[in-house]
Amino acid sequence: MSQQHYFCPLCISSSGFHNYRTLFTHIRIEHRKESSFNIRCELSASCGSRYSTFDSYRSHIYRYHHSLVDLSDNNDTVPSSIDDIVNDLENLFSHPTFNNELDVINDPELFMFPDEELDDTGHEFLNFDSTAVSIATEQVNFDKLAQFYTRFLLELREYHLLPQNVVQSISSKFCSLFDIIMKLVKTKASSSFISIIDMEAVFTHVSFIINSVSKSEYNFLKQCQNDFDYQPPTEIKLTTNEELAYYIPLNRSVKSNLSRQTNSNSLLLKLYTDGIGITNPIGAKKDSHKFTCFYYLLDDLPDIVRSQVNSIGLHCICYTKHLNNDNNRSILMNILVEDLNKLQTEGITIPCLSSRIYFVFSTLSGDNLASNEIGGFQKSFSSGSFCRHCFVTYEQRHIPLTDISFLPRTRIKHDMIVNKVIANNDGQIIQGVKNESWLKDLIGFHATESLPPDMMHDIAEGVCPLIINALLIEVIQQRLLTYSDIEQRTSCFIYGFYDSSNKPPPVKKQQLTHSTIAGTASQKLCLFRLFPIIFHDIIGDLTLLPLYTILREIISYIYANPLRESWLPYLDDLCKQFHCLMIEHLPDRVTPKVHFLTEYTRSIEMHGLPILNSCMRFEAKHLYFKRLAIRTFYFKILCLASRNVINYAIAC
Ligand SMILES: [Zn+2]
Ligand SMILES: [Zn+2]
Ligand SMILES: [Zn+2]
Repeated sequence: MSQQHYFCPLCISSSGFHNYRTLFTHIRIEHRKESSFNIRCELSASCGSRYSTFDSYRSHIYRYHHSLVDLSDNNDTVPSSIDDIVNDLENLFSHPTFNNELDVINDPELFMFPDEELDDTGHEFLNFDSTAVSIATEQVNFDKLAQFYTRFLLELREYHLLPQNVVQSISSKFCSLFDIIMKLVKTKASSSFISIIDMEAVFTHVSFIINSVSKSEYNFLKQCQNDFDYQPPTEIKLTTNEELAYYIPLNRSVKSNLSRQTNSNSLLLKLYTDGIGITNPIGAKKDSHKFTCFYYLLDDLPDIVRSQVNSIGLHCICYTKHLNNDNNRSILMNILVEDLNKLQTEGITIPCLSSRIYFVFSTLSGDNLASNEIGGFQKSFSSGSFCRHCFVTYEQRHIPLTDISFLPRTRIKHDMIVNKVIANNDGQIIQGVKNESWLKDLIGFHATESLPPDMMHDIAEGVCPLIINALLIEVIQQRLLTYSDIEQRTSCFIYGFYDSSNKPPPVKKQQLTHSTIAGTASQKLCLFRLFPIIFHDIIGDLTLLPLYTILREIISYIYANPLRESWLPYLDDLCKQFHCLMIEHLPDRVTPKVHFLTEYTRSIEMHGLPILNSCMRFEAKHLYFKRLAIRTFYFKILCLASRNVINYAIAC
């Protein structure tokens, strides 16, 4: 390991420190009390914020760079003197979790820049109740304990995703532990400084608090309401009383997100919808419980904030089967649309900002089925006018686009068709239009313009595996490799540092014969990109190679950021060329997704970078709920919806 040196940014001339821990001790001893204390953390590329007090800097270090100052992790750097050890221990106990409120309140500097460092000082300070601490009575301490314990349980549930029964078991074991400790103390105590009776009273009270917090979901949520501004989601009654949906009023959740930022522009609001299927472990049917989730995303936020999952939130959750009922659906959609419209027309006021914030709805992302359904288009992709962007029919998808171009759907024409469908009222589909859009009353929404194609579903999960599959089938047919060779190569390939997190599973014979490729969207994309390297010796012999190279080039444009407008005509040409080659070489595989690829140029002109409208941005949030649903087997959707709000409470 190469020796790294650290230099103190606050000393004009200082010699280097051989590890960060000694530098930190130096800063602590020499510069802590300086009035001009101002330090920028440059320990990792993502850092870079400034800290004007030592305490805020220390909080940041313990939160994000704990390994650098942690004694137990740094076995190779033994502390040089007793003094160092004492300092380290002292630092260890001033870690945010163990922070002593009295220490904080004595330091007036900390409160001078409350907004500036809100993010790094974290939750302890957000919920910091200064009046409660100044009267340090016994009762207040027990309250603090209850709050601490509630937070601990929240972390177990929301970060580590432990089911409720495990959380309860941990709590009851804690109480037993206290009992045992108390008994041990009693046997040991001969000459006591504090009376055993007092001590027992304290332990009993602590056990009581722990018990009461974790006893039931109701008590727990009540405690969350007290301590963490948790508010339960709003219940929507659909046609009957048993059919319920839950939603979190945007006004409320957006506010709790925004209070941490300072951006006064009008913001873009994007929506995303996807389903969660949960199989009952005892039941036989697959996906016996299906939920539909709606998420929102605040765009135009500063880049650093945007990539955090917190600018994305759950808006509504509902049983999918309830949405199939027209009446239920219109009840739910009316409430959601009203909520979204209110945000657009009235905006919201954020306490720390001077001006009101307004939102503009831009797009709704989802897979093709969900987008078609919400737009009121037909849900079948194997007949009729399946495309929600143009009037191509299923049979016409084989016509090369060099000969013909299909009319795009326009607002006026679409509205005419919708009127005709409503007038007929016989459930017949006219030119791919089945009904009005679910969101027809949403300001800024139009079925032909607000449902862009999604590159995760069309490319990473659509065309890429299709081409990989076709190439590998050709490898087999030309007898260049056997099925087991392919499996062995894909499993033994050593993926590089940046790809290792997206390492795709090996390609098996079964997948190839069923025309599928296993793995997630990013894994498939990874396999696609590395295909020429994994099969470097035979790729030149494949007749389908031109398909690969063109698609590869298309992807490099569609995933590009930034994307120049002058590139678009070339991209359009590439997509048409790819379409033609598909018709020529793989006519059986000209799927709707191959057609959707030709829609991207127009979509980019209308909506900007596809990567910003991609479902990928929502996948992390959605995955959290998917995992939660599968891990805990919660069939009551209230739990899922309420957990989202709780999650805010600890994330902020
Ligand atoms: Zn220094
Ligand atoms: Zn840092
Ligand atoms: Zn089309």
